[in-house]
Amino acid sequence: MTSLNQRAQHLLQTVFGYPAFRGRQGEIVAHVAGGGDALVLMPTGGGKSLCYQIPAMLRDGVGVVVSPLIALMQDQVDALEQAGVRAAFLNSSQSWEEANAVERALRRGELDLVYIAPERLATPRCLELLQASKIALFAIDEAHCVSQWGHDFRPEYIRLSVLHERFPEVPRIALTATADPQTRAEIVHQLQLDEAQHFVDSFDRPNIGYRIVEKNNARQQLLDFIHIEHRGDAGIVYCLSRKRVEETAEFLNAHGVAALPYHAGMAHEQRAAHQARFLREDGLVMVATVAFGMGIDKPDVRFVAHLDLPRSIEAYYQETGRAGRDGEPADAWMTYGLQDVVQQRRMIDESEADEAFKRVQRDKLNAMLALCETVGCRRVQLLDYFGQPSAPCGNCDTCREAPRSFDGTVAVQKLLSAIYRTGQHFGAAHVIDVLRGLENDKVRQWQHDLLSTFGIGADRSAAEWRAILRQTLALGLAEVDYDAFQALKLTENARAVLRGEQTVQLREFRKPFKQKSASKSAFTENALDRTEQALFERLRWWRLETARARNLPAYVILQDATLRDIARAKPASIEQLGAIAGIGSKRLESWGEEIVALLAAEADA
Ligand code: ADP
Ligand code: ZN
Repeated sequence: MTSLNQRAQHLLQTVFGYPAFRGRQGEIVAHVAGGGDALVLMPTGGGKSLCYQIPAMLRDGVGVVVSPLIALMQDQVDALEQAGVRAAFLNSSQSWEEANAVERALRRGELDLVYIAPERLATPRCLELLQASKIALFAIDEAHCVSQWGHDFRPEYIRLSVLHERFPEVPRIALTATADPQTRAEIVHQLQLDEAQHFVDSFDRPNIGYRIVEKNNARQQLLDFIHIEHRGDAGIVYCLSRKRVEETAEFLNAHGVAALPYHAGMAHEQRAAHQARFLREDGLVMVATVAFGMGIDKPDVRFVAHLDLPRSIEAYYQETGRAGRDGEPADAWMTYGLQDVVQQRRMIDESEADEAFKRVQRDKLNAMLALCETVGCRRVQLLDYFGQPSAPCGNCDTCREAPRSFDGTVAVQKLLSAIYRTGQHFGAAHVIDVLRGLENDKVRQWQHDLLSTFGIGADRSAAEWRAILRQTLALGLAEVDYDAFQALKLTENARAVLRGEQTVQLREFRKPFKQKSASKSAFTENALDRTEQALFERLRWWRLETARARNLPAYVILQDATLRDIARAKPASIEQLGAIAGIGSKRLESWGEEIVALLAAEADA
């Protein structure tokens, strides 16, 4: 008899077409297939699905997957069917007849996997149905939804403890990408997973390159970034406000980048339509507020761009984590400037929350600011925030070109005294004008050209002074008074710097430069050459037509990574094609001939 591990390996290769398990997948599969409970913590894109899909196929009966992401169930089931897995779903989007057909299939034991919405699962009718069926396992996806303190709380999730009570002998696997210990404890408690083994995978996403650039003209910078590095790629652009979402989407469309807006102010149907197009079509850019994203399972998002500063590292990591889920190179790119610091501080100060909550928010924002201003490796700092030590990565902007720091004490002293001498009544623009010695009307009106600080900063550009001011604010040496026309004020901490008792290290200012496409990392070194790239484009085109004809998302047919491997290997036979990762036997049967014929035709052309 073959061992469980061999059978798991066999399914991985023949059904899913992958040569090997990733990270802790193999251990998890063995544990759950053997009947154990598990709590799985893996970053977005880490490969959680296989951890329950394969055990469900190895065990007798059907694997029941609880997921709050109703909109995605159809795509998940389509993808499984493409791989030859017998899958279905039950949720409120179905007609009565459709649901009935699934229920019948369940009773007859004709399914390997069934996806069920949590509110449906806890109903007496559904529990009865499950009681009458043979259950292989329960998988509880997005398990952090049981946490009352998280922002994704779903009351229906609390009721999932009924699974343990009703089906004590069925193994359960809970999965999430939320890492903090508090959420983890709550999952265990609420779902009664006391016996579960914990599998915590690395939170690193090595294929994502992190980059934070000085904000200059954010929209133009974004356009350059897309044109130079991501032409024709799918991406997500995050903005803080609805207005900015609309404007940015319009701007991109006007400049040849196909973009769709998404925010909570739009009609529900329109939002749903934009999301569906983004998932299904190749190469669209979604411009969105943070309302967009939870459960966006699109594997081939090649970049996530932030035009505004996220409010915490958790938010930043979750949002950037939507890039590159297929493991292929992807970019997390952000523009960041003075106004971001001002705006985020203001949102906290002006919120209705109590002081204790505001303090937590300020700490989170400060950690985010420190990430922006760091001269060290961004990834080291990110992972450190999640409690994971690491070494410099080589795949972030600061690793590729270390920013220099300099002793900025004198510059900061000049800035602080200009704020002080102008009476702490003026905003950034005026203070910088005074520093640089500009003789404009406002300066003359207030006789600021007579101050000792007038013109003492003429050696630096206004952009440089804004960068210095931004860091001065981030360091808490000055603050903005929102009740008084955004006037700059000194804080208690400023005194020590002004007296020369404390020095200040600043990040050297770099003129925002046109990005070179040459900023390649170790991860993009195995990029395609020109003929391969042309072939890849041709394959993508074939995939788009195939997907359209069947009304499926493109990546359900085959993923980018697989197409790229095909373009590189140019297999001449079905057999050679079958050796490529991501093509299981069902997909080989469905598409093998077409692809091999296409490659042969291209070779002749
Ligand atoms: P998660 O649910 O953790 O965000 P998924 O289960 O959607 O991640 O998997 C992310 C991507 O990784 C998918 O494109 C999937 O096909 C791919 N993947 C998962 N496991 C493997 C593996 N062992 N080898 C290669 N690719 C894998
Ligand atoms: Zn790095």
